[in-house]
Amino acid sequence: MQRVSRRELIGVALGAAAVGGAAGEPAREDLAPGKRTRYIAAYDTESPGCLPACRTIVEVHRRLQMPATFFITGRTLEAHAQEYKELWSDPLFEVASHTWSHKLLRDNALCGRAVSADEKKEEICKSKELIERIFERPCLGLRPAVGFDTGLKGAADVLALVREAGYQYVSSLLWGPDCSMPALLEEPFHYGTDGLAEVWELPGHGWHENLLKNHNRWGSRRLTLWPAPMPEAIPAGFVKTPQDEFEVNRVFLEKAVETGKPHVSLIWHPWSLLAFDPQMKMLELTFAHARRLGMRPGTYADLRREVGG
Ligand SMILES: [Zn+2]
Repeated sequence: MQRVSRRELIGVALGAAAVGGAAGEPAREDLAPGKRTRYIAAYDTESPGCLPACRTIVEVHRRLQMPATFFITGRTLEAHAQEYKELWSDPLFEVASHTWSHKLLRDNALCGRAVSADEKKEEICKSKELIERIFERPCLGLRPAVGFDTGLKGAADVLALVREAGYQYVSSLLWGPDCSMPALLEEPFHYGTDGLAEVWELPGHGWHENLLKNHNRWGSRRLTLWPAPMPEAIPAGFVKTPQDEFEVNRVFLEKAVETGKPHVSLIWHPWSLLAFDPQMKMLELTFAHARRLGMRPGTYADLRREVGG
């Protein structure tokens, strides 16, 4: 319901204002806070190289007072529980699950096959329990490893485990149509058609930034669609500098604001960010731009409260 009113009543005017529209359009500052697009910085924390990266990332977030959601695998947290607890106990941050050990919960055409039923249960339930024990607060969300182009639609076994574990949201729609990049600016929806109206999908957007930098060593690959739904978001080659990466990011931020989307959140990996940009300049450029566009910074937990009551 919110989505309809946001789009119909605010979206067009907001878009015009964001791109310096005609006189008489309402300024972004005049719009009710709840009507402006949320900007969510989020990180998939999944390997040993993520810990030093998160130290720098957290420093940037604290300095700029920018909230974030950190998804983490249980194994990564287990290996350095005290360090992560110290880094993320700040109320600026949400900590959520990135599965137990990064195994696939369903098939992904580019990344591999789903694991067994027993393994799915461990991936979904065990990480949530560990996060809640370490951080002493509820773990509301699950971001499955690699994500899927249809989210968890039709994955009855996975959704049953999501319900059993008690998650309030998943962030699993992380690819464009036909397993393409980038992930489009999809809006939140709930899994009522799969019998789980209380569980919401809160999609991620844009590129898995490691692919933009060839950090997975995939080289040239069939990643984009033709015709492309967002040709302006497809760079001519791998990005080379933090500024290059920001120029891709800004396409998604600006389009989300122009089209009145409830949120935009790019898919980032601490290990890959650190290898490419040790100073985390891209973060500063992106956060400054989100603020310049009048977006509301927040976490996925904030978005979940807004969409689902
Ligand atoms: Zn991951």
